[in-house]
Amino acid sequence: LRVEEKLYQNRYLVDPGRPHIKVRPHERPSANLLALTHICPAKCYELNDKGQVETTSDGCMECGTCRVLCEANGEIVWNYPRGGFGVLFKFG
Ligand code: SF4
Repeated sequence: LRVEEKLYQNRYLVDPGRPHIKVRPHERPSANLLALTHICPAKCYELNDKGQVETTSDGCMECGTCRVLCEANGEIVWNYPRGGFGVLFKFG
């Protein structure tokens, strides 16, 4: 199987109303925040029409890339989903 086909097998249990990642309000995104719109493997980050970065963490694979880049400087808030929620990997 190709990587994309393996990823397609993953299942997600969304915790409604309790996103496990939030982007702090900002006027203009920093270079790191902007980078998330390109490097998140699940494409959870997008630019809105005001040029600000938004996230929808429903398909998050909990890889931690955005956490490493943007949590320490306070640009995002990142927590693991509650028990039983989040990604369920079919292939490890
Ligand atoms: Fe994307 Fe990984 Fe961050 Fe989830 S943890 S939003 S998959 S970069």
